[in-house]
Amino acid sequence: MVARDEMDRYLRQVLEVEKFKDYGPNGLQVEGRPEIRKLVSGVTASLGLIEAAVAAGADALLVHHGLFWRGQDGRLTGWLKARVARLMAQDINLFAYHLPLDAHAEWGNNAQWGAALGLRADSRFGEQALGFVGEAGALSTLQALAQRAQAVAQRDVLVLPGDGRALRRLAWCSGGAQGYFEAAIAAGADAFLTGEISEPQAHLARETGVAFIACGHHASERHGAPALGAHLAAHFGLQHEFIDIPNPA
Ligand SMILES: [Zn+2]
Repeated sequence: MVARDEMDRYLRQVLEVEKFKDYGPNGLQVEGRPEIRKLVSGVTASLGLIEAAVAAGADALLVHHGLFWRGQDGRLTGWLKARVARLMAQDINLFAYHLPLDAHAEWGNNAQWGAALGLRADSRFGEQALGFVGEAGALSTLQALAQRAQAVAQRDVLVLPGDGRALRRLAWCSGGAQGYFEAAIAAGADAFLTGEISEPQAHLARETGVAFIACGHHASERHGAPALGAHLAAHFGLQHEFIDIPNPA
């Protein structure tokens, strides 16, 4: 068991929350009961995940994508009201960590996704050092890399092959990090993996010869929350369950 406020303080410290300029508040987003015994982790605080957390008897929900983002108008209406109301009616705490959970060197999305792919970063690149880059190792051909990426994502991935060069350095950044492609190229990557793709990256892959693989936003960000949840469970003696709500995007 841990006090809610102690978990909040601990996470702020270990995830170095103050270091990041982010699109929403990191930390306790919805305050629930003061003590936590059962923790549920997941990717996004969707109504589906909140309902699953209620069914699992959670005292707290730990997610990568919380409820509040820059650009919202602040009204608790419609779908947002439904999510907040469900959490508050059940007195469940909502903890959300966006960029701090992408970046963390051990439990973060990039570290854990990289480990699942068989990659380990020896350097970082891009805005707020969110991009990871390391040796390709056994994944030195595009075929091997695409097969591994697909197996880890458990879905089809979209591959822009580049110029067919042998892969020595690989860069990756989970989620909607397609805008990091140029920074990955500048960091010396022969291929870049992320969740999403937009129109310009197809041209960049053709014109620079650097391969680009889009693995799915959700699929690439499914790794940090369970790792952090497992750590918290061990550290504070909690029950923990990761609940994956499938998302094709
Ligand atoms: Zn994301």
